Amino acid sequence: MQTGARAELAGPHSVAPECAKRDRAGRGKRPVFAPFCGISGICDWTELAPGGHCLTMPHDHSDHPHALLPPDPALRVKALETILTRKGLIDPAALDEIIDTYQTKVGPQNGARVVARAWSDPAFKAALLADADPVLSELGYYGRQGEHMVVVENTPEQHNMVVCTLCSCYPWPLLGIPPGWYKSDAYRARAVRAPRAVLSEFGVTLPEGTRVRVWDSTAEVRYLVLPMRPEGSEGLDEDALAALVTRDSMVGTGLPKTPEAP
Ligand code: FE
Repeated sequence: MQTGARAELAGPHSVAPECAKRDRAGRGKRPVFAPFCGISGICDWTELAPGGHCLTMPHDHSDHPHALLPPDPALRVKALETILTRKGLIDPAALDEIIDTYQTKVGPQNGARVVARAWSDPAFKAALLADADPVLSELGYYGRQGEHMVVVENTPEQHNMVVCTLCSCYPWPLLGIPPGWYKSDAYRARAVRAPRAVLSEFGVTLPEGTRVRVWDSTAEVRYLVLPMRPEGSEGLDEDALAALVTRDSMVGTGLPKTPEAP
């Protein structure tokens, strides 16, 4: 299926312009501009189109993966939107409402409110950790991509980190749309293989004795990390606490901010 998707994007007879320029000499290994990843390298093109152009067939390099996205996704999205609107299959007003929802109403501020409340209210926290769905639903945080939530608590003994190794499953009602890095091949592969290395690249260094547990999201289950309440935050109200909670701290790739000294 992935190969099909690549073939559809590439088109089996399309020509990479950079490749065509450098490719008159014949077959074999030669430097090209890889059209999907934008990285110049050595490709082993074995098929040539008439005129000596090489074909941009889907392929991989040993030193870097090719992304599936075209160079400018925004253009592709606009083209699709135009076609679907002209065919009467979508309503632009409905699209605007969806975009507004995810730009202004749904985002990490929702998750931050939940975390701040859990830091302030032990009974709420216990209920959240025991069975998150009814607690979150009562607050209005439910719906698409957030149907089956599990909240995992960071402690001095265990730091939790969330990934979706298969694609990009993410708790939209609580955190909004996932950031680009969460969907990247590198994060999805390395979060499970070398979580401490990934954490250090995010600027998170944990004590030696802290275990790292990685949770792999699925289409069924989404995770929210409940970070540890930062030192110095005693006495802050829920609004002030929520301001300390970052998106990454709820994915496990970051820590909450520490309160500024008065
Ligand atoms: Fe996924």
